[in-house]
Amino acid sequence: MALIVQKYGGTSVGSVERIQAVAGKVKMARDRGEDVVVVVSAMSGETNRLVDLAHQIQERPIPRELDVLLSTGEQVTIALLSMALEKIGCPARSYTGGQVHILTDSAHNKARIRDIDAARVQADLDAGRVVVVAGFQGVDEAGNITTLGRGGSDTTAVAMAAALKAAECQIFTDVDGVYTTDPRVEPRARRLDRITFEEMLEMASLGSKVLQIRAVEFAGKYNVPLRVLSSFEAGEGTLITFEEDGMEQAKISGIAFSRDEAKLTILGVPDEPGVAYKILGPISEANIEVDMIVQNIAQDSTTDFTFTVHRNDFPRAMEVLENTARELGAREVLGDDVIVKISLVGVGMRSHAGIASKMFETLAKEGINIRMISTSEIKISVVVDEKYLELGVRALHEAFELHGEDNA
Ligand code: ADP
Ligand code: ASP
Ligand code: MG
Repeated sequence: MALIVQKYGGTSVGSVERIQAVAGKVKMARDRGEDVVVVVSAMSGETNRLVDLAHQIQERPIPRELDVLLSTGEQVTIALLSMALEKIGCPARSYTGGQVHILTDSAHNKARIRDIDAARVQADLDAGRVVVVAGFQGVDEAGNITTLGRGGSDTTAVAMAAALKAAECQIFTDVDGVYTTDPRVEPRARRLDRITFEEMLEMASLGSKVLQIRAVEFAGKYNVPLRVLSSFEAGEGTLITFEEDGMEQAKISGIAFSRDEAKLTILGVPDEPGVAYKILGPISEANIEVDMIVQNIAQDSTTDFTFTVHRNDFPRAMEVLENTARELGAREVLGDDVIVKISLVGVGMRSHAGIASKMFETLAKEGINIRMISTSEIKISVVVDEKYLELGVRALHEAFELHGEDNA
């Protein structure tokens, strides 16, 4: 019998009625003769609610305790879904991450899955039961509860699919596939029938939250067929594929964006060996990840240096940089956390010239000032002021002809 893993996100299990609807969909798959493992998220809004409770007590909640707290969200949904399945005559059993030995490292709040003991799940499947697994959570070697980072249920689903050698991992969500850009920002965005792993990885890492980046990495590494589809309407969704010969190569496949950005600039630092290290060393020691980095050409014997970090890390990064500035005798530190990053992604970029200039021209026509630029083989990113996000995304969507024919 074919085995499939289905994952339902927060909105898809956001109420008792929706959980019952999910049970109906799972039963349909069973009735088609498939073995089903279901991975579920917490009910929509629940993880945010829990994070907020923790912040009411501690500005920076203890990571271990935060994981104990956050993992409860998913535990609620697995139990309710199993009840809903049993009620419609579909034998089911729910398990927390720890109970099915989703072993992770000990990096609380962003743990990585190391291993899954599939035997227990397989035994239930063999006994004709649907297995319902809590997404987003695991345990470390010492038995501490861990969580996998926001959006981590996607990764649980892919890891389960890899461990069980499932025929397909289906990510059911509130959109019917991966679009050329977030349809909430550009309603004329077009659903893609297929997208390559490479492009999906870029889109996810550049801010498209439709799939957690680790889920895409994992699926690529273990060859898990991955599909994104709607839990509300029928359809084929989007298949994430390896690049195939003859696959039509659009220049640009999609536009990703991220609002989680902030930039910091240190002005007038001595232009000498080791200065980048002196600036970024303390930032990395403070466990802050740096994304884009730009160093200006030195004019006198000093130079300016700008980098971006996640917006949550902005206040701490400013503190660290101000310290460094004093030590280096820098002229000034500037910060801006109302910026966003917009990126064009496409494997077709490799073989097409002029994409960057068309992007810059499009933004210029809209009067949008570009603050930073960074490129790689299959993407171009720009940093712009937050107020230009929607305008920028829509203008680029139009300029690169990403609209669907029927909804153009
Ligand atoms: P879930 O709770 O099911 O995991 P998410 O909110 O994590 O759902 O992901 C689905 C959302 O991702 C969509 O509602 C959409 O707004 C957003 N999204 C961002 N970029 C894209 C894209 N390129 N294609 C489709 N959806 C996208
Ligand atoms: N409930 C977690 C979150 O909101 C995990 C997930 O939904 O994938 O991030
Ligand atoms: Mg998600």
